[in-house]
Amino acid sequence: MKTSRLRVVVVGGGITGLSAAWHLCSQYGNDTKDIEVMLFEKDIRVGGKILTKDFMGAKVDFGPDSLLIRSIGGNRLFEELGVTDKSVFPAANKIWIWTADGLKALPREFILGIPPKLSPLVRSGILTVSGAIRAGLDLVLPGWIGDRGGSDDNYHHDASVGSLVRSRLGNQVADKLTTPLLGGIHAGSIDDLSLCAVAPFLKKTTGFSKSLMRAVRPLTASYSSNSKPVFQSFEDGMGYMVDKLLAKLIGCGVTINYESEVKELHRKGDVWRVSTLEKDYEADGTVLATPAYSTAALLGDLAPDAAGLLKSIKYEGVGVVGLSYANTKNIKLDGTGFLVAGTHLVTGCTWLSSKWSHLSNPDHFLLRAFIGDKNREIYDSTDDEIIALVHEELSKAMGLDQPPSAGMVVRWVNALPKYQVGHLERVKKIQDEVSSLGTIALCGAAYKGLSVPACITQSYDAVAQVMEKLSERKSH
Ligand SMILES: Cc1cc2nc3c(=O)[nH]c(=O)nc-3n(C[C@H](O)[C@H](O)[C@H](O)COP(=O)(O)OP(=O)(O)OC[C@H]3O[C@@H](n4cnc5c(N)ncnc54)[C@H](O)[C@@H]3O)c2cc1C
Repeated sequence: MKTSRLRVVVVGGGITGLSAAWHLCSQYGNDTKDIEVMLFEKDIRVGGKILTKDFMGAKVDFGPDSLLIRSIGGNRLFEELGVTDKSVFPAANKIWIWTADGLKALPREFILGIPPKLSPLVRSGILTVSGAIRAGLDLVLPGWIGDRGGSDDNYHHDASVGSLVRSRLGNQVADKLTTPLLGGIHAGSIDDLSLCAVAPFLKKTTGFSKSLMRAVRPLTASYSSNSKPVFQSFEDGMGYMVDKLLAKLIGCGVTINYESEVKELHRKGDVWRVSTLEKDYEADGTVLATPAYSTAALLGDLAPDAAGLLKSIKYEGVGVVGLSYANTKNIKLDGTGFLVAGTHLVTGCTWLSSKWSHLSNPDHFLLRAFIGDKNREIYDSTDDEIIALVHEELSKAMGLDQPPSAGMVVRWVNALPKYQVGHLERVKKIQDEVSSLGTIALCGAAYKGLSVPACITQSYDAVAQVMEKLSERKSH
């Protein structure tokens, strides 16, 4: 190596790239003395899908609005950033399902819409009588057709979430419960979604217990007995975490290159050449924290098979519509919002002012509605048209009797990667080929979990891989 100071490039300034850069500084560098970190972001801002906007005098998230607390990567980062003093927790936990018969409360103990017992499912009124009877067959039906005997090897045979839920509990549980619950988090139909990637615990447990209801009982029990909150956010929204992270990166000397799309990546001997439109940069190690389609373009010549597999990871868009209603006296909402069973424009709605006490205001009620990718042609409409259409549908679901006093629309194109059947196998092949190139690693929502905490964990792993290879090289 020409210089003793290691140069590491991070491509992508979403939460994955930012936390990778932070991990490089905090764990491997002594400020800027040992390591030089350069981050490249094609946008004019960092944060990627984390986007907090000022709306009606409040900080409202138009990307992720909450984080699963029980995540090692996330917790560690929050402590390192010193952001825990600004943590906020949901003021409500009830979730509703919008069915043809109106809003029905989702029993808290359902895991991905799978009930531990038949009685709460029947009482919920979400299913018809015949749907509930079909679900009850789960307790007596022989093994799931996707289950080839329950050995550990079977864990590696993937199947769709839909095939498991439909065969055990019937179409109504699949369409009215699992689809809305998973559809809110993962893109794509449950009939394409990978069981191993999205719900590995179900794949594992059904190896021992044929019944899904019985399989989720231990999870339900530990969930119900734990009164601690499961999710958290920050008083100033998720953007607060990004701001803190950015300040730390600047403080430890990371160069942040905005509006710098990396167009090409080449390797000459041990050195990486990273090219933007303006300039070429050299680096000893590279972390690619970009969406799969961007990563594919960068790896085309270096790892053609991996690039092909990366291209095959499809993405879905989502529209997020913030709405404010001025007259709050008729809006009495108890819960975090609702999900939608059935085909509608809106796939879900967060009741921001009842979910978060810091967003509660006597003068107005704030909501956030999601438009699914099936209705993507609507993104071409004007903001006012979208707001009117969304309001019309929310009125039916919630009985709103007044138009919104304000609205804001964010269109996320290619927002969420689809974890289709075989996803983990694809990811392994991609990462194996890329790893054989040396001091380079991939991380981010496209691979092993798209939640913010999962992205953080992946970024730490990617950095560890690159740094291990660099230290091996140094010792030779
Ligand atoms: C509406 C919505 C709601 C969500 N809700 C939640 C939630 O409540 N909780 C949760 O945990 N998760 C949630 N998620 C998921 C989570 O927000 C994302 O999966 C995560 O933020 C992705 O982070 P990332 O850094 O991997 O990717 P991104 O945020 O997509 O960042 C990638 C970055 O790379 C940049 N880039 C791309 N190509 C290049 C290039 N060639 N050169 C330079 N830069 C490049 C992009 O501009 C972008 O900034 C939600 C997602 C959406 C869209």
